Amino acid sequence: MQKSARNRRIVVALAVLLAAGLLAAVLWDAFAPKAEKQSATSFAMGSVLQIDIYGGEVDLCGEVRDAVAALDQRISRTVDNSYVSLLGKNGGCTADGDFADDMKAILALCEATGGAFDITIGALSDLWDVGGENPRVPSAGDISAALALTGYEKIESVGFRYTVPDGVIPDLGAAGKGMACDAAKKILATDGSVTGAVVSSGGSILCFGKNPEKGLWTVGVRDPDGGANDLAGVIRTGECFVSTSGNYEKYFELDGVRYCHILSPFDGYPVNNGLKSVTVRCDGGMASDALSTACFVLGEEKSLPVLSSFGADAIFIYGDNTVSVTDGLAEDFELTNGNYRLREK
Ligand code: ADP
Ligand code: MG
Repeated sequence: MQKSARNRRIVVALAVLLAAGLLAAVLWDAFAPKAEKQSATSFAMGSVLQIDIYGGEVDLCGEVRDAVAALDQRISRTVDNSYVSLLGKNGGCTADGDFADDMKAILALCEATGGAFDITIGALSDLWDVGGENPRVPSAGDISAALALTGYEKIESVGFRYTVPDGVIPDLGAAGKGMACDAAKKILATDGSVTGAVVSSGGSILCFGKNPEKGLWTVGVRDPDGGANDLAGVIRTGECFVSTSGNYEKYFELDGVRYCHILSPFDGYPVNNGLKSVTVRCDGGMASDALSTACFVLGEEKSLPVLSSFGADAIFIYGDNTVSVTDGLAEDFELTNGNYRLREK
């Protein structure tokens, strides 16, 4: 009898301890400091700039927004005195240290992609005017004339002075939004109080630090045939940059053919190679953006060595709704849309 009374006391004591533990856990969760979140939505570089920052102690959204606006002033073709406009219209510009660094990195990307990403695409983009007021299928003669004005190796530099031959039109449209994400990361990394952040500029995204709830970030990969909120799948990832280029962003259709805004610097035509989109993940914003454009031009097979030379991974979505994922992303990518299926390796 005595023994069973003692056992009962032990059971009661354990139950009380357990209940106290549970209560402590609940209270801890309720009162634990939650990472403060600051958010801002604005328009920059021709698309939406969405900023969500956890843990920052000052107005970092404002700083990021200002940095992206300042970058736009330097690299936009539509800003009269930007470096890129001066280079195109005046035939030359004298860069400051930052723009010279950017140009070096951009030209290295042009070279590494074998010219599939080519920032002298301007004459061809103007000719086709996809997404502009007067989209058209130009004559073969006009296309070869514009092709003759295309080629990143036509850009010359002596010290900080960059020049191009007459008629060559530089256009950083395929890298600018990724560069905006780089600019954001610079600010977030210097601050020190930020625990995590997501910054998206059009088709380019920066995932910074840690998601306060789940650790990893979830990045949606758009359904190329759906609306802005429809996904083909999701990537679960730590800190990285993700960019997507697709034939659904800007295009026009004529006689059943889709002409998209990504042009082949090799033949001067909008890319029409069976791909609907390419998403690239890597550790640089400019690189992820330029590579997504380049891989869209190159197709999967030719993209693979380029991607691996940058330590980058990619998701290729094809016109027949098959999806191919490089090895480094296989574990982190999940198809969430029943209309798509993974390709057999
Ligand atoms: P988005 O601007 O929609 O995010 P991209 O990053 O793929 O898409 O860039 C497409 C833009 O880049 C086009 O609008 C054009 O200005 C330019 N562009 C098109 N083809 C190329 C190319 N092969 N290399 C470099 N820039 C390109
Ligand atoms: Mg791009």
